[in-house]
Amino acid sequence: MTEPLSFGALRALLTDVFGQLPDQRTGANTQYTVCDAALGAFGVFFMQCPSFLAYQRDMQRRKGCNNAQSLFGVAQIPSDPQIRNLLDPIAPMHLQEPFWAILERLMEDKTVAAGFAFEGGWLCSLDGTQYFSSTTIHCPHCTLTQRGETSYYAHTVLLPVLAKPGKKEVLVLEPEFIIPQDGADKQDCERNAAHRWVLRNAVRFAGRRVTILADHLHCNQPFCERLLEHRLDFILTCKPDSHPTLYEEVALLDKLGAVTQCEERVWTGQGHQHWTYRFVAHVPLREPPQALYVNWCELTITSEATREELYHNAFVTNHELTERTVRSTIAAGRARWKVENEGHNVLKNHGYHLEHNYGHGQQYLSTVVVLLVLLAFLCHTVLQLCDRPDQRLRAELATRRTFFDDLRALTRYLFFESWDHLVTFMIAGLDMTPD
Ligand SMILES: [Zn+2]
Repeated sequence: MTEPLSFGALRALLTDVFGQLPDQRTGANTQYTVCDAALGAFGVFFMQCPSFLAYQRDMQRRKGCNNAQSLFGVAQIPSDPQIRNLLDPIAPMHLQEPFWAILERLMEDKTVAAGFAFEGGWLCSLDGTQYFSSTTIHCPHCTLTQRGETSYYAHTVLLPVLAKPGKKEVLVLEPEFIIPQDGADKQDCERNAAHRWVLRNAVRFAGRRVTILADHLHCNQPFCERLLEHRLDFILTCKPDSHPTLYEEVALLDKLGAVTQCEERVWTGQGHQHWTYRFVAHVPLREPPQALYVNWCELTITSEATREELYHNAFVTNHELTERTVRSTIAAGRARWKVENEGHNVLKNHGYHLEHNYGHGQQYLSTVVVLLVLLAFLCHTVLQLCDRPDQRLRAELATRRTFFDDLRALTRYLFFESWDHLVTFMIAGLDMTPD
C-alpha cells in the first residue's frame, strides 16, 4: 500500500513531469529552466497569489532564501516575461499525464475511491467553458468569430470532471482544448472536442464502468455511438425541440400506458415538494432506420404549497431504468451542473486567477496556463480529500475565508523550509493540537 497523497508526493510527481518538458532553446541563454518556469507558474496558481514569485525574489534578495525554492522546488525564479517565453512553446499534450497519474494514485485510497463510486463505477461530466475572449489579442489557436467588421477571438476548453451527486468535491481530469485542428477547414467546436477526448482517453477507463454526463449539445446519435463503441455509458440531457422523433414516440407510448410514472413527496426543510418521475425504455434517438434506441426519463418537481413547477429536465441513457434506478440515474444526470458550479465557477471566480495575464503568447501559452491552473485546483482537491493536516486547517480557516490570505501573508514575510513546516506553523499558531 502506497502512502496517501501528500503535498510532497504531488510536488515530486509534478517535478518529474515538468523536468521532461521540451526545451526548444538553442542559444547559451539558458539560465532559467523550463522546469523552473512551470513550477513557478504552478506556485502562483497553487498559492492563488499573482505576486507570489515577485515576493519570493524580494525575499531571496533580503534573506538569501525563498519559499518558491523551498515549497515548490524552483531552483532559480524566472521573471514573468521569462516564464511566458519558456512556457509558450509547450504543447498541451506534454501536460496531460500528471492528471491521470494523480487520479491513479488518489484512487488507491479506498475511502476516496468509495467517495466517488457511483453504481460500481464513476460519473464523468463533460462541459465546455470559454476562458478568454478579445477583439484585439489573439494567437494561432484562438477560435475566430466574425460579426460584421469585428473579429472576436476566444479560447474555450472542454472540462471533464469526476463528480458524484451530493459530493462537494469534483476531480478535474485532463481537458480538451477547442482549438483549430491540423487539416480541418472548419472551426473547431465543443462537439468535436468531446469526440477527441473520448477517443484519446476511453482506454484510461478500461475495466471500469464509467458514465458520461453531458448537456443537450452532446445528445446526438454519433456521440452516443462513440461512447458505446468505447464501452462508456451515458446520461445526456435531452430536449424536445432537438429530438422530435423521440418525443413523438414517448407521447405515443404514453397514450398506450407504456410510460411508467412514479412519485414521491420530498421534505426540503422549508416545505414539501412533489417529485414526479416518468420513464420509458427503447425509444429512437432519431428518425429510423438506423436509429439508436435509448432509454428516456424525466423529473418534474413542483411545490406542494404553490403548485409552481420548480424543476423539469429529461435525459436519455443506456442504463436500464426501473422504479429503483430512475432516481439514481436522474440524480446522476443532475450532477452535471456541479461542473459549472464546482469547476468552471471555482476556476473563474475563486482565486485561481485563470485570467492572470502571463500574456496570451504566440503558441500555446494560454493553454499551458489553463493546464497549470487545473493542476493547482486538482492538487488542492487531493489535499482536501486525503491530507489530514490540510483538512484540519481548511476546516478551521474555511469559515473565515482566510486560508489563502494567510498563506499569502505568511509566505511573503517568513521563510518556511517545507510545506510541512508551513502547515505545522499555522496549526501551532491557531492553538490546534497536533495530530
Ligand atoms: Zn489565442
